[in-house]
Amino acid sequence: MSQQNEQFKKLVSHCKEYGFIYQSSEIYDGLAAVYDYGPYGVELKNNIKQYWWMAMTQMHENIVGIDSAIFMSPSVWKASGHVDAFSDPMLDNKDSNKRYRADQLIEEYCEKIENKIKKDVTKAAKKFGDDFDEAQFRSTNQRIIDRQSKIDATLGRMNDLLKADDMAGLKEMIEELEITCPVSGSKNWTDIRQFNLMFSTQLGNIAGEESKLYLRPETAQGIFVNYLNVQKTSRQKLPFGIAQIGKAFRNEIVARQFIFRMREFEQLEMQFFVKPGTQQEWYAHWKEARLNWHKALGTDASKLRYHDHEKLAHYADAAVDIEFEFPFGFRELEGIHSRTDFDLGAHQELSGKKLQYFDPESNESYVPYVVETSLGCDRMFLAMMGNALQEETVPDADGKDSTRVLLKLPYPIAPVKCAVMPLLKNKEQLTSKAREVLDKLKFDFNCQYDEKDAIGRRYRRQDAIGTPFCVTIDFDTLEDDTVTVRDRDTMKQERVKIDEVAGIVSGKVAMKSLFKSVTA
Ligand code: ATP
Repeated sequence: MSQQNEQFKKLVSHCKEYGFIYQSSEIYDGLAAVYDYGPYGVELKNNIKQYWWMAMTQMHENIVGIDSAIFMSPSVWKASGHVDAFSDPMLDNKDSNKRYRADQLIEEYCEKIENKIKKDVTKAAKKFGDDFDEAQFRSTNQRIIDRQSKIDATLGRMNDLLKADDMAGLKEMIEELEITCPVSGSKNWTDIRQFNLMFSTQLGNIAGEESKLYLRPETAQGIFVNYLNVQKTSRQKLPFGIAQIGKAFRNEIVARQFIFRMREFEQLEMQFFVKPGTQQEWYAHWKEARLNWHKALGTDASKLRYHDHEKLAHYADAAVDIEFEFPFGFRELEGIHSRTDFDLGAHQELSGKKLQYFDPESNESYVPYVVETSLGCDRMFLAMMGNALQEETVPDADGKDSTRVLLKLPYPIAPVKCAVMPLLKNKEQLTSKAREVLDKLKFDFNCQYDEKDAIGRRYRRQDAIGTPFCVTIDFDTLEDDTVTVRDRDTMKQERVKIDEVAGIVSGKVAMKSLFKSVTA
């Protein structure tokens, strides 16, 4: 098993073992690509959402939030283009009966070539040591040049075929590239057809197309249809934004990689309404601002990158992904799209209601353009966990080397901020004093009381769920009202007065500490 696979497997089992994520309906063997968040998972997820929500609404006078319903008029999805065009190219392998997305098969083919390039680069780097110049090597080594141009040509051709909606051409390409099914190893493919990703259901007890409802595949449309309500009731002037956090549903053809691709997931979306003609400027602004938001979490810059879209969605005039290096490679974490006036224009046309904004400065009315930022909460969760989970060699109580599993989450994002522990669980004076301390601290941040097992094991348990501080009540506490405060990362313990604990912990776990480096 490759190192990355092993790392990913560890991550998945850590999520389960420590109560972050469970398979949905597990006792019935689970439901594919649907997951439940456990006690620590829900805290971590809420903290991610809070960080985003603060960054959007609290930090911007001109961004407000809403919470729109999941069910919307079916006309919304007609106007937005989702009924006709929200689909992925699907094909089956006739021998394994496994279903695939045609574009993903081709992308994986290219990824294999990319891995060969990476191998050559690593080999050369080893050989040349400090003198190695990767950019120069990539641009002069003939084998790499040939491989890179094969990748570029393949992806270019695929994008052209997708743009032209040429499913037969796409199948021809898969045959030409001799792509085989990873399960059966055969090239026995069905034709490719477009598969709509929206889930549908019925309204009340009326059958037929009339009452067909869709589970929203994105939260954005709830913002578009409310934009004038919000603009008027919150007295906003352009440019202004509307933020929303909520569930979205997609009947993904291939749902793999744990919570990376789910059928029910959560989005954090912000639609920024701007004057037509200024959208490129705002697109550049949000592209940078969103990357800064990710970096402020301490994520290594080399794990984040932009990926400009070649194949633009039907609504966009520019689009970029912020990609994160997951254990299975760089993948989309967030999308930033310049959506023009496509959505508002389409809703205006189909509903027959004016969705124009009256600009008091220029005295004209127009349909605003929109720049969207769209982050997947679950992917963000996976990225945070992937970044944080590590093993460290540290001295144990006897000074011998031992391994500690550490979830090195940024302190403000950690599910539990402070664990309160009596040194011994069967000494009533200690446990009641510990409960007294807990009762003081629980108003300031999320605390946990932990008295079971030896203190060293309790520290390890808290390290594994990422708790930044452990406060221990011992016999000295009973004499002088001091406790030890242990820092997760340094493992250093400091003896402080009980009254000082809230201040020390608050200073480090407050969301506000993340904002120091968010520049926009
Ligand atoms: P992908 O290309 O990976 O299918 P997408 O381009 O369709 O993603 P968008 O429509 O731009 O995704 O959605 C915005 C964000 O929502 C994505 O960046 C991602 O973080 C998240 N997202 C989309 N689909 C899923 C899913 N099936 N499971 C979890 N998160 C998702």
